[in-house]
Amino acid sequence: MEELKMKSKVLSVLEDKIQLIKTGEEAIYLVGPIKLPVNLDGETVEFKWYSWVQSEDVVEDFQVVIDRLSSAQLADLQQSSVLVYGDFEYEENALIRMHSICHTGDIFGSKRCDCGFQLKQSMKMMVEHGCGALFYLANHEGRGIGLFSKAMAYILQENGYDTVEANHALGFADDSRDYREAIEVLKALRAKPVTLITNNPKKLEALREAGLSVSGRTPLWGDVSEYNERYLETKREKSGHIV
Ligand SMILES: [Zn+2]
Repeated sequence: MEELKMKSKVLSVLEDKIQLIKTGEEAIYLVGPIKLPVNLDGETVEFKWYSWVQSEDVVEDFQVVIDRLSSAQLADLQQSSVLVYGDFEYEENALIRMHSICHTGDIFGSKRCDCGFQLKQSMKMMVEHGCGALFYLANHEGRGIGLFSKAMAYILQENGYDTVEANHALGFADDSRDYREAIEVLKALRAKPVTLITNNPKKLEALREAGLSVSGRTPLWGDVSEYNERYLETKREKSGHIV
């Protein structure tokens, strides 16, 4: 009886913050918004944060979703999330970034790529602009090859392969990232058009093909150094990135 009471209290606290997004036979559970004060260059900026998880079946009863958490081993799998700034649902112009997780660049500040710089810079752009959303995509490490394979790809790169050749040599496509989940979440948060922060026209295409209303693109270059010059050059020459 006590356990039941405790359960219903937890559900009553959480249920208004859980959204079920149906994607055909599957479901995405989106939880948030959660207040997230962030240190951005020494200044505290308040973002709203959401995380989501995909499920192979559609469960409408959120108590069942909560009951499944402790045995789902979610810590073994990374979840994606989105950081929202301003009135994202209603503001006329919103910037978005679909940021692929980069363990080495985002966390360690590696200069072998420009990810860490792009992550922080896009957050600043959204704050300056007044409205935006940064999608942090957890299954996109190394353009979708995973962290362990990326370590191997780095070793190949130290032995003369460029970033695209290294992914091919390990049996991967150059780019195996999928944006469908993030697009579904974006649609749940906002119906108006968005401006995409990216140097990658493929991202713009993926979003447009998924039926998303994209009003334009704004580029993001910077933090070029001797360590990532060649990587950035390959992105421009082989992966069609444009300035
Ligand atoms: Zn990176």
